Amino acid sequence: MPKPLMDTYSPPNLDFERGEGAYLIEKSGENYLDFISGIAVNALGHAHPKAVAALKDQADKLWHTSNMFRVPGQLELAEKYCRDSFADRVFFTNSGTEAVECALKSARHYHFANGRPDKYRIITFTGAFHGRSYGGINAGGNPKYLEGFGPAMEGFDQVEFGDHEALKAAVTEETAAILVEPVQGEGGVRAIPDVCLRGLRELCDAHGLLLIYDEVQCGAGRTGKIWAHEWAETAKPDIMAVAKGVGGGFPMGACLTTDAAGAHMVVGTHGSTFGGNPLAMAVGNVVYDELSKPGFMEHVVSISNHLRQSLSGVVDAHSDKVEELRGRGLLVGLKLKDGFGNRTLVGKAREHHLLMGAAGDNVARMAPPLIINEDHVREAVSALDKALGELQPE
Ligand SMILES: *Cc1c(COP(=O)(O)O)cnc(C)c1O
Repeated sequence: MPKPLMDTYSPPNLDFERGEGAYLIEKSGENYLDFISGIAVNALGHAHPKAVAALKDQADKLWHTSNMFRVPGQLELAEKYCRDSFADRVFFTNSGTEAVECALKSARHYHFANGRPDKYRIITFTGAFHGRSYGGINAGGNPKYLEGFGPAMEGFDQVEFGDHEALKAAVTEETAAILVEPVQGEGGVRAIPDVCLRGLRELCDAHGLLLIYDEVQCGAGRTGKIWAHEWAETAKPDIMAVAKGVGGGFPMGACLTTDAAGAHMVVGTHGSTFGGNPLAMAVGNVVYDELSKPGFMEHVVSISNHLRQSLSGVVDAHSDKVEELRGRGLLVGLKLKDGFGNRTLVGKAREHHLLMGAAGDNVARMAPPLIINEDHVREAVSALDKALGELQPE
């Protein structure tokens, strides 16, 4: 990387200049099929005409006032989110980690406002990812992200993913909430079975805990429902953090709560200079209208079934290298066998002009735009087949 930037990333030697639908166009003029979409962000693909028009229109009118004045687009979008979900209250943020911060603060403050300030501990799971703020890395509990950043923050209890007994044992009088991704993204694209989400809801109800979902990656239509937990019907959260796909590429996020879990967040408890900015709201409204228009989620379900079927053929053909196909909807993980590297596979796929991403647990991840069609699937599967064919043990 050029010197003035921090070395926090190591991008490949490519400079993308434009995007069109499911493609990114490099300055050489070459096309790349974007099956990672900024890590589940460009839900409507690149340069979606309605999103571009909304952003340009807003750019001509007003960019920023801060939340000291009403932003009409916030009310409009919050009403849509609440109309269609468990939520009654919304706080807008600029990013996922800020949405998680608001979720954590809302959960602790709920118990404080109900006379139980001693209930402040949050239960989380191994393999979790909740962003890079101090609250986020401590909630995520990944030692790699915590090391070197001072003492771990008090108040998080991490339980082994899938260990139901350990989970029950971790609940104490001091527990405020359980925080979980319905589909773990960074941790290796691991979907939580619907029955387990319902079990979490019951456990929370039995002990007066709040259930917080982090749907930053798996929400916004990615699994074929607007919010991933909707597959588990009765397992509704009290609080939910969203971001990534909800802005379709414009930075925005939100913390959604029930009335009980959010009404106590009054003047002075929380805030953001940029959150819910008019530009973000202009795009966020378009993205939500597209996601919720009749037939769109059905499209996501059918194209993701088609992708999974096509991928299972490739996985079978390379069963010496791929251990399993994971995930839900258009959040797909290929777990590689020991000795084969997920990052190497992502690099090889890129040589065949297919963009993917690496995730934890030796998984190569796909999170294409939700607008992909069968031609895109065919192209992706063929590139992946070649990349897997070339993959050597390391
Ligand atoms: C990406 C992600 C975050 C953090 O979002 P940022 O916008 O990068 O702050 C939090 N939680 C989950 C599940 C994520 O995938």
